Amino acid sequence: MADNLVCFFDDAFVPMSEAKVGVMTHAFNYGTGCFEGIRAYWTAESEQLYVFRLNDHLRRFEHSRQVLMIDLPYSIERLSEICIELLRRNQFKTDVYVRPLAYKSSELIGVRLHNLTDAFTMFSVPFGDYVETKGGLSVGVSSWRRIDDNAAPARAKLTGIYVNSALAKTEAALNGFDESIMLTDDGHVSEGSAENIFLVLGGRLVTPPPTDNILMGITRDTIITIAKTELGIETVERSIDRSELYGADEIFVCGTGAQVLPVVKVDHRPIGSGEVGPTTQALVKSYMDIVHGNVDTYRSWLTPVYQ
Ligand code: PMP
Repeated sequence: MADNLVCFFDDAFVPMSEAKVGVMTHAFNYGTGCFEGIRAYWTAESEQLYVFRLNDHLRRFEHSRQVLMIDLPYSIERLSEICIELLRRNQFKTDVYVRPLAYKSSELIGVRLHNLTDAFTMFSVPFGDYVETKGGLSVGVSSWRRIDDNAAPARAKLTGIYVNSALAKTEAALNGFDESIMLTDDGHVSEGSAENIFLVLGGRLVTPPPTDNILMGITRDTIITIAKTELGIETVERSIDRSELYGADEIFVCGTGAQVLPVVKVDHRPIGSGEVGPTTQALVKSYMDIVHGNVDTYRSWLTPVYQ
């Protein structure tokens, strides 16, 4: 699919077809890798590709890397340069997804983090909608619980942890839902398989706190910021019970891949009017305007790729 693309692998830009790892690679066997998911948006009018909140993604990457005790010879500044050069070399004129990935590359048997070699790659592919929607998502609360911080740190974006998301996502799909919502071990709403969740409740946004095993989403932070500055809506971060979902005025999920997606049904129950609500609609519009560089106030969140 991506054979004509260039990626960064073993400290060099190479054709994607040459970037291969062996079957004994530690991360492949034990899930000992960490990654980021970053979007860049193409705007035809200005012929520019804008990477969204690149520095924030790379800072979270740095955190995940520390949790997994991976050492890289690259600073955040260097990773940022690699990202821009990667996009330039591929001459993308479309929306793309960028995936930096740091991993334990030793080829040996033995599960651990120490005394292993580390490696890094970054690739990028054209990317449209992550979740297909026709007027809002129908989601189901998962029978799979969100992994607890003391089992594996959910706030680091570790490859192995995504088995948790995959179990929940596939269960939801096989049960006829578009997406799953996972609860924490003690029964509070945590997040979707690759999205944070927000409720619109009594004129405010309510979203689970960092301590409910969520990934600290960059889109989540973006939404909290623009809800306040653009719409004058405050966000409350607090634990949410399952049945509060059913009584919310509106619900939406958000993430780099998903962007901002309205939820119109939870466990077969219509949310609010059962249609996409006005607050969600306003946030979707505002988010899309910002990521495409149409709002000057948030230009600092965008890194232009082309000179
Ligand atoms: N939770 C999980 C489990 C995710 O994989 C993602 C996607 N990275 C998110 C939340 C949303 O995070 P972000 O907005 O930073 O993409």
